[in-house]
Amino acid sequence: MSPVPPLGLLLDVDGPVASPATRSVSRPGILAALVELAGAGVPLVFNTGRSDTFLREQVVAPLLAAGLPGTARVHAVCEKGAVRFSVRQGRATEVVADSSLAVPREVHELVGGIVAARYADTMFVDTTKRAMVSVEQRVDVPASRYAAAQGPFEEEVLAACAAAGLGVGLRGREVPDAQGRVPYRIDPTVIAVDVESVLLGKDRGAERALELLAADGELPARWRTVGDSRTDYAMADLLHSRGLSVAHVDVRPGEGVPSRDYPVLVPEGAVEDEAGEAYLVRVAALLRGERAEEAGGGFAWWGSGASRGVAESWAPPRA
Ligand SMILES: [Mg+2]
Repeated sequence: MSPVPPLGLLLDVDGPVASPATRSVSRPGILAALVELAGAGVPLVFNTGRSDTFLREQVVAPLLAAGLPGTARVHAVCEKGAVRFSVRQGRATEVVADSSLAVPREVHELVGGIVAARYADTMFVDTTKRAMVSVEQRVDVPASRYAAAQGPFEEEVLAACAAAGLGVGLRGREVPDAQGRVPYRIDPTVIAVDVESVLLGKDRGAERALELLAADGELPARWRTVGDSRTDYAMADLLHSRGLSVAHVDVRPGEGVPSRDYPVLVPEGAVEDEAGEAYLVRVAALLRGERAEEAGGGFAWWGSGASRGVAESWAPPRA
């Protein structure tokens, strides 16, 4: 029987792995550390709102090119839990999409029409999405110009969805459908606006991750979840609620660190993929036995759960 992995990693993609500026894996240390960790038996699950196409092209292909071993346990949970595939023996498996979690076709047309009419100079529709409608900041447009357009765009999308009789929510406001239901949400992030089923989210993605890993081997002894948004804490929330040992690594705690019952690790002096790279390099050193402590020298523990589960041995189990 295969040994229990010393660690499982549940990784948000935009932010800790892919640069929000280039929308690709721009720091080579990230790929090298992930390849090493996967080779040491650490399961890697990407939990993202991105499409399977983005994951294959921007994350899996570079990982394979960097030497990801055939034995690696790698899964991609895309579109916030609606779509998934795995990497087996150096190949991406067929995509599985849950059509019950998709927005109606009509939403694609409504949102696409709004972008084409008034917002094509700052944003574009991601045509690779299967379950969500995602409109993203153009890479050639400065963040400030995109931010100025995003608010009015969100309002137009809300109004159009409401006029079409689709129950939808935006930033705490809700416009129910004729039956009083709100099955969809408009979810703005720093670089995009998503229209999606309310059943999707990083918690659903974490559930899918557990299912995928239970099906292909032993579950890890401990977990680290890594993200750059408040919504990414839902990954650690879900694992913690299942009684699993988890700490969350917040690579952009711009809004502060929320109170949690599990430890939160925060980088000092770096954010986004620079912090993601530093953390993954550190974890690889911990598993090699070259570091004893997860925190210190650029990372600090936060929160009430900080004393729990962090001093345990990182040494991989002896075969
Ligand atoms: Mg992110």
